[in-house]
Amino acid sequence: MTIKEYVAARKAEFKDVVSKMEKVPCIGIVQLNEDPASNAYVKGKLKDAAELGIKADLMKLPIDTSEKDLLSFIDGLNKDDVHDGFIVQMPLPKQIDEEKVKLAVDPKKDVDGFHPLSSLFPCTPKGIMSYLKYENVPLVGKNAVVIGRSNIVGKPMARMLLAESCNVTVVHSKTSNEDLARYIENADIIVVAIGKPGFLDNRFKYKESAVIVDVGISRDETGLHGDAIPGLPVANQTPVPGGVGLLTRLALYENLLEIVSKK
Ligand code: NAD
Repeated sequence: MTIKEYVAARKAEFKDVVSKMEKVPCIGIVQLNEDPASNAYVKGKLKDAAELGIKADLMKLPIDTSEKDLLSFIDGLNKDDVHDGFIVQMPLPKQIDEEKVKLAVDPKKDVDGFHPLSSLFPCTPKGIMSYLKYENVPLVGKNAVVIGRSNIVGKPMARMLLAESCNVTVVHSKTSNEDLARYIENADIIVVAIGKPGFLDNRFKYKESAVIVDVGISRDETGLHGDAIPGLPVANQTPVPGGVGLLTRLALYENLLEIVSKK
């Protein structure tokens, strides 16, 4: 099944679940910037919500909003009965410390799963894991290599793979090329999230049966590029675009429905 087909099937499931709910779930989206990438992400989130029958409340604040004012706005959202969950669209303007904002969101409403005490996982690793499971990719006892150790992708991805009993190795910018090649050659699952277009290429050897999950998104004048070149000699490789980005979008609503179901 392609990722597009998978996402369409899961959306149909979510839509059905939502249609049977007494109260329509509501997600809040706080946006302070107007950069084209953020606008595109927000547009995608609004479109998904409409498709699923979920209410989405876009709250645009001025770009010069102070950190104090944003934190008190977030406090209001934490306490209201209107929004089941909400996100603050990143990146934020320079005057605002993103880490403070992530910590200010009540973990019970943290649809992005960024808060360290949140019971939810960040959307990218969450979306990837749901997809791997749905596709019945063997996980138990398999060698998983996560390339990149960011707080929103690499680290939570490694934790989730470990929870599924994979043998997990996390490699990063300080890993030697020799070690990297050795880990990749033995990997059954490779999740690459570093933001270096075409980093995984034919200089590495891969297992024919390997699955490559390409998280990277780099944009240039020719379009969007993943961290892996297309067409590597493996069993399954997620495309860019049309791959992990769609899984991430879906997981936002998977998290929202999880919040609502715990109420
Ligand atoms: P980040 O920039 O926070 O971290 C990059 C990580 O890559 C670091 O841990 C660093 O150690 C590692 N790294 C850098 N160079 C390396 C090298 N040569 N070898 C091995 N590791 C190296 O990254 P992030 O926020 O996790 O994002 C990574 C990429 O994924 C970006 O392209 C981002 O745009 C993309 N992304 C996509 C989605 C999606 O929905 N598709 C979601 C989140 C991030």
